[in-house]
Amino acid sequence: MNHPIHFVSLGPGDPEFITLKGVNTLQKADIIYCPATQGKHGIISRATDILKAIEVDESLIHPFILPMSKERTDALNAYNELFLDAQAEYLKGKQIVIVAEGDAGFYSSIQYVYDKFEEAGIPVDRIAGIPAFIAAGALAGIHIVKQEEQINVIPGTASFDELSAKIENGMIIVIMKLPGCQEAIHTCIRQYADKAVFHYFENVGTGKEYYTTDITIIHSKDFPYFSLLIVQPR
Ligand code: SAH
Repeated sequence: MNHPIHFVSLGPGDPEFITLKGVNTLQKADIIYCPATQGKHGIISRATDILKAIEVDESLIHPFILPMSKERTDALNAYNELFLDAQAEYLKGKQIVIVAEGDAGFYSSIQYVYDKFEEAGIPVDRIAGIPAFIAAGALAGIHIVKQEEQINVIPGTASFDELSAKIENGMIIVIMKLPGCQEAIHTCIRQYADKAVFHYFENVGTGKEYYTTDITIIHSKDFPYFSLLIVQPR
């Protein structure tokens, strides 16, 4: 067998953000593995919602549950199970597609499974997608970085001191996974309201899409998981 296992990036939410290459690959799949989480009222899967909006046979969609706990070993166990399952189907000759939101190689733990297939000598390929922060920039109509400016993407582990040093240096900052550094961000907003613009986004590319630069609103927020900030100097 020499056809690859495809990793398809779905973009941040709007199905129209999937590339043509992604759609063509999805439409040739025999099985589509799709990340999901176990919510209080059943399985939640934004990736499945995206797939349902394009022409793929729903019976081909196999959700796999990713535990939300901070404990990384739980997620690794889920990924190992996915790997074994997908490998068995692949060896039966099936066309396998594994999807991820945004770009599948940008803060995307599914790369762990990609690496496992490579180690096992099974060919893999990855189809690029639109990361959430790029779609956010378009939504706001901002020039994310220009001329000599530099950009820093950070994952929600940042302290106030780190954020403050970057703002002082005129760096453009993209902050992902906001619940992890809510306090540091709130402090930054109070300190730097006159030096920086805080572009705040939620659920970009979905029906619940939200954008504001109003610091009073941002300051009062409990950041949800699907939120991000782009901080630019004034
Ligand atoms: N692979 C994804 C990133 C996954 S990490 C990408 O390329 O964009 C998860 C983080 O991405 C979230 O905590 C949030 O900060 C951001 N994110 C993903 N989708 C989003 C969306 N639709 N709207 C706002 N932020 C989003």
